[in-house]
Amino acid sequence: MNVSNRTGAEPAPWVVIKFGGTSVSTRPRWENIARIAAAHRVQGRKVLIVVSALSGVTDLLKRIAESGSDELAARGAQAEILRRHEAMLGELQATSRETIDALFAQLDRLVADPGRVSGALEWQAQVFALGELMSSTLGAAFLGAQGLPTQWLDAREHLVAQPLANQSAWSRMLSATVPAAPDAGFERALAARGEAFITQGFIARDPEGRTVLLGRGGSDTSAGCFGAMLRAQCVEIWTDVPGMFSANPRLVPGARLLAQLDYQEAQEIATTGAKVLHPRSLGPLRRAGVPLVIKDTNRPQLAGTLIRAVASDAAPCVKAISARKGVTLISMETVGMWQQVGFLADVFAAFKHHGLSVDLIGSAETNVTVSLDPSENLVNSDVLSALAADLAKVCRVKVIAPCAAITLVGRGMRSLLHRLSGVLAEFGALDVHLISQSSNNLNLTFVVDESLADDLIPRLHALLIRADALRAEDGAIFGPSWRELEAAGAPPPPAAWWREQRAALLDLAAQQSPRYVYDLATVREKARALRALGCVDRWHYALKANAHPAILRALHEEGFAFECVSLAEVEALRAILPTLAPERILFTPNFAPRGEYVAALEAGVRVTFDALHPLRHWGELLRDREIHLRVDLGVGRGHHDKVKTGGATSKFGVSLDEVEEFRALARHAGARIVGLHAHLGSGILDADHWRSVYAQLASLAESFTHIESIDVGGGLGVPARPDEQPLNLAALGRVLDEVKQAYPQFALWMEPGRFLVAEAGVLLARVTQTKRKGHVHYVGIDAGMNSLLRPALYDAWHEIVNLDRLDEAPAQMVQVVGPICESGDVLGSNRRLPECREGDVILIAQAGAYGAAMASRYNLREPASEIVL
Ligand code: ADP
Ligand code: ASP
Ligand code: MG
Repeated sequence: MNVSNRTGAEPAPWVVIKFGGTSVSTRPRWENIARIAAAHRVQGRKVLIVVSALSGVTDLLKRIAESGSDELAARGAQAEILRRHEAMLGELQATSRETIDALFAQLDRLVADPGRVSGALEWQAQVFALGELMSSTLGAAFLGAQGLPTQWLDAREHLVAQPLANQSAWSRMLSATVPAAPDAGFERALAARGEAFITQGFIARDPEGRTVLLGRGGSDTSAGCFGAMLRAQCVEIWTDVPGMFSANPRLVPGARLLAQLDYQEAQEIATTGAKVLHPRSLGPLRRAGVPLVIKDTNRPQLAGTLIRAVASDAAPCVKAISARKGVTLISMETVGMWQQVGFLADVFAAFKHHGLSVDLIGSAETNVTVSLDPSENLVNSDVLSALAADLAKVCRVKVIAPCAAITLVGRGMRSLLHRLSGVLAEFGALDVHLISQSSNNLNLTFVVDESLADDLIPRLHALLIRADALRAEDGAIFGPSWRELEAAGAPPPPAAWWREQRAALLDLAAQQSPRYVYDLATVREKARALRALGCVDRWHYALKANAHPAILRALHEEGFAFECVSLAEVEALRAILPTLAPERILFTPNFAPRGEYVAALEAGVRVTFDALHPLRHWGELLRDREIHLRVDLGVGRGHHDKVKTGGATSKFGVSLDEVEEFRALARHAGARIVGLHAHLGSGILDADHWRSVYAQLASLAESFTHIESIDVGGGLGVPARPDEQPLNLAALGRVLDEVKQAYPQFALWMEPGRFLVAEAGVLLARVTQTKRKGHVHYVGIDAGMNSLLRPALYDAWHEIVNLDRLDEAPAQMVQVVGPICESGDVLGSNRRLPECREGDVILIAQAGAYGAAMASRYNLREPASEIVL
């Protein structure tokens, strides 16, 4: 054995390596375990392997444990368990069946035991324990046969659970607690016996010597206990994901790997629902100062998540969002609660009496609502009705179940509240039963109906990243996303055009700064991708996004019609494209003065109305005219509140309940309504959105007589942050095809703006000054919010790079700011850039839409000029 990395006198350090169910269920997995253990041995470490039962086996044992009088069910599960282990024996080819025959016989006796019918807790613990006893027995034989002699250890000889005050009999037997601490005597005794051991997770004994369990998922806890007792160098949890993520990666593909966490944050994420680590595994390790790593058995080369005591990171940030399902809420209502001395004592006495531990608490003047976490309680209907009966003596009781507790975790949660407006808005639209903010300032929890959780979590995760509450760009905290890890090996997405044009761009910036640079090839490429969706009959370019003449000409050549929102836009467009038929211009103003409508109608442009006022007061303009109606479908969508253009609080459109009146006014004025239109907002990345808009408009259109076209608006999103997924155009084509088939009588129109031009433009600026204040670093550039307003107006995120130092590694976290006298003049916050020097060229990407178009001379500073490549 190579012990060269140790000094002679030091005893060999221990590592505890724990493998979960999926990590022990096939021969290749066991070969992995052998490799991982051998690598530690080569490094001179003593190894204790902790294993779970083969995946699914604990669930089969649970069927037996809960079979009651249904012997057939118990026997069926028993047969399946035998089959699984025999198959495994065959695969491992390491030992004979006799090795685990004794355990099979024990299972057979337990199934036949009269304790089965009553489900006696002691009997259940013995049944469950067999899963880990079997897997560790097979494992010991296999490792020995692989040339890695590994002694089998009965965990129950070393892990002793201690009953807690008021603990229910159920949790004393099936979810017990082992107060593990460094134990030099145990370490010495084990070291005297050998250097490689394998033992069971999940099981321990109580002071009377009976087998007890550590709760579902409790093998992690066994590893934590052994790690602390041995004062191990490290505990490694090997599982089927490469670490702890910012959300359950199976539910949220955009979830980011957490590269490192301190014990408290990891504890909070585990406690609030991240199944990857049992919440009770960390306590003993934290007290003993032993670090824990979570790693992927199938991808051992990935670093995983390191959990240890680290100095807290300066800027507070949300690290994760987790959910616990199966939560029960008990709402207790009384009259004049606070006047009633001892009310809370009475209430909590009832919980204590029934052995139920309370998790969250919310209170109002006459109401206390608490939650019961199923993992800590046996929350069955018997217990609940007994509890409710007791509580009914002192208050009115309501049980609300099943609920889900959704928790945001991160240090300094209270100082992040200003970033959570989007998240709060999501919850605002739901029935939230309870909100709780932990006194340790590490979490914020919302309790909602359980059925809402699965949809909500991915949305909230995206919102947290977008609001910079979860600072996913900070590589010191976050690793790659689950999606990126899954796609590893797939060809990388094509690099942005500006990377290839770096030299030309540096030249342009040297001539003049700041300046916008546009790449027409990108505009045309986007236009062709849209035109390829055959089902859209007419594409309009919403030219408010960018009215540069070269872009208008290019899109005209690509077959686009145009959508204008002011008469000035109509006039500019006609001056640039004199041959454009007025009929190919759609004029969709909002609160424009009468004169603009007069001029547009006279020019033969198509006009959309989005209010009753023009029809009521200027009806004489409309005789024999064809007009379009913009409807407000009652909701807005989009990447930010300020880009939502639907719903009662948005100023656009005629609400559905006024459509009838609009029709009557149009009829009276002698106008024909030939088109319906709705545009709910911008930055939508989900193709289904347009299906629903089309379906609503089309079913409305069927009650009209003259409708020819249905315009489902624009809003086609462009992913901004590295991990956002682009709008799936093929999916968009599919959903539009479907709705077109349902309503073939209408022409389908769309009117994208940003989608066509955002990525075609970059803003080049030069560094003016750098500054440090406290721990905050600023990089000042000569372009401010007067050139690019989106970050200040919409909290928009634009990729920012130092074009002069594109290949240098990021040095520090900086705030990229402009020269405008406004605190909001921040182009990018918390960005990691290489060290920037005065004069360096900074590139702000995706600036082709609503960049120059929104620029101003605020502070009398000239905004960035524009040039086409
Ligand atoms: P094992 O059998 O190895 O103990 P578990 O199934 O108990 O594995 O835990 C791993 C699973 O935890 C992952 O497959 C994943 O679905 C789930 N999980 C839930 N939340 C998270 C999270 N925040 N990070 C990583 N995994 C999570
Ligand atoms: N086998 C047990 C369970 O499935 C313990 C574990 O795997 O952690 O809950
Ligand atoms: Mg587990």
